[in-house]
Amino acid sequence: MIAIFYLVLQLLKLYSYVVIANVIISWLIAFNVLNTQNRFVYAVLDFTYRLTEPFLRRIRRFLPNLGALDISPIILLLLIWFIEMCMKLYMIYVRNKEKSANEVGLKSDVIKYPDSVEEKVILEKIDELNKDNSVSGILVQLPLPKHIDKQKIIEAIDPSKDVDGFHPMNVGNLSSGYESSVPCTPLGCYLLIKKIEPNLNGKKAVVVGRSNLNGKPMTQLLLKENCTVTITHSKTKDLKAECLEADIIIAAVGIPELVKGDWVKKDTIVIDVGINKTEKGIVGDVAFDEVSKNAKALTPVPGGVGPMTIACLLKNTIDCFKRSQA
Ligand code: NAP
Repeated sequence: MIAIFYLVLQLLKLYSYVVIANVIISWLIAFNVLNTQNRFVYAVLDFTYRLTEPFLRRIRRFLPNLGALDISPIILLLLIWFIEMCMKLYMIYVRNKEKSANEVGLKSDVIKYPDSVEEKVILEKIDELNKDNSVSGILVQLPLPKHIDKQKIIEAIDPSKDVDGFHPMNVGNLSSGYESSVPCTPLGCYLLIKKIEPNLNGKKAVVVGRSNLNGKPMTQLLLKENCTVTITHSKTKDLKAECLEADIIIAAVGIPELVKGDWVKKDTIVIDVGINKTEKGIVGDVAFDEVSKNAKALTPVPGGVGPMTIACLLKNTIDCFKRSQA
């Protein structure tokens, strides 16, 4: 019994050292004594964050002070899931959306449907939620079962509650440079890039993948920052040559470790959006070990863009709420 007590005590002690180390490093970064581009600092941060508060601490930094705004009971994020589709995907990632919202003080509810649900049931539910003033944000988790028309669902969501930023009105506003909900994953990538390189004027960016979800909104965000953007896809003739020109590479393809070490010139910022299930576990679209030798900064998979996506979902929900009160 005493031995167990002693062991628990030692573990608690170790845990507190890790927390203290984390706080000190975060301060040093905040005061620019250290920077996250330093590989050692990055490794320590990554390790301590994983051990302590995996990513919520970082999410909280993004959010306004909810207590001060006195709005937390009103903001409601509504998540609609198709159970089997979610199970096939990354259940933990999907669940984290709900969990993180609740942890930072937003109320979130999940409505779950079997994949066989009729399209009209979903459309009726969205209509009901659009009219419900207590709902600030609506997210329908993609992909959808085959018999449900994705575009119809996206267009049914009130653009002012569209926390995913996929409604055509938000897509149009983003490309015109007006205020809009921005898709969470590219927004998270953009914020990471800006953190590393605040002035993107004239930088050459290569976006690998042209999906509506990632590649296209990413391009718009970088254009707004005066980058020269090349958007590449499966028909691009020489992807390696394009990447070698880049100061910033964003890979959103869905092919494990497509971007290799010799595709990346020295000091490039590389953002890996990919989540690919392989025999060796989950890997990104970038060969991490090879590319990390050249890159100025490189996001890990898992643990890089994924948590940022969730943080941005919460940010979008609050922004939707604030716009609804303006
Ligand atoms: P998607 O809709 O399948 O689009 C993939 C894009 O990659 C397409 O534009 C395709 O070109 C292009 N492509 C395919 N093969 C290529 C090649 N050999 N060279 C260059 N481009 C190629 O994928 P997505 O929805 O954007 O997702 C991409 C990845 O990001 C997936 O692994 C997904 O799981 C992951 N993801 C991660 C997050 C996150 O939070 N971290 C969020 C969403 C998605 P074409 O247009 O010519 O077909």
